[in-house]
Amino acid sequence: MKPNGTSLNTRSNGHHLAYDLLNDVSVDEMGDDHVASSSETPMREDAFELSDDTKIELIEGHFREIMNILGLDLTDDSLKGTPRRVAKMYVKEIFSGLNPAKKPIATLFENKYQYSEMLVEKGITVHSQCEHHFVPIIGRAHVAYISSGKVIGLSKLNRIVQYFAKRPQVQERLTVQIANELKAVLQTEDVAVIIDARHLCVSMRGVQDANSSTVTVHYCGKFKDDEATRQEFLRHVSEPTATL
Ligand SMILES: [Zn+2]
Repeated sequence: MKPNGTSLNTRSNGHHLAYDLLNDVSVDEMGDDHVASSSETPMREDAFELSDDTKIELIEGHFREIMNILGLDLTDDSLKGTPRRVAKMYVKEIFSGLNPAKKPIATLFENKYQYSEMLVEKGITVHSQCEHHFVPIIGRAHVAYISSGKVIGLSKLNRIVQYFAKRPQVQERLTVQIANELKAVLQTEDVAVIIDARHLCVSMRGVQDANSSTVTVHYCGKFKDDEATRQEFLRHVSEPTATL
């Protein structure tokens, strides 16, 4: 179900979002309230029919047009490479997590030590982009799981967070997507994710609040059902991080 029962689906040509039923006011409100339509990133079926190189070429042309419309002089040495740089950055870096082919492959290991306590990986850097304004969301993720007999390499936890962050995102959805992936990979329901992040669309525009941050949590399994487990996780997260 889309917000307000309105249609954000694509038109038949597949290239234009249909905002027919949304006026400017509701478009602004939806962005400022950061409403997400579902826990899946809304993507078209033909999302990967174009190659990365073709996407870069097309975005370069469109971004040049945006700069042109803003009145920027694209013959200027400093500006002329910008459309290409932005296009490459979108496709190869900051939105590369849209492509399922880029999802990190997490190899499971037998839990030889029979470690059945909680494992917490905290302070994972989150660099994402708000899907309503295309400006950064910057923060930290804290993830935890209780081994079902299998473990994954620690760096894979960071990679999973980064993969889902490299999409246009809504923080709540990012939190749920990370938790769902951890559950699938680790074959356990006992998973927790907290993200504490700043939204540049809140600090540099709109209400212009430079000091607020947004915390989203997703608890599953024992983290949801058992108060002591949840408290232990929160205690680990709030302890000062080890210094080297
Ligand atoms: Zn935003």
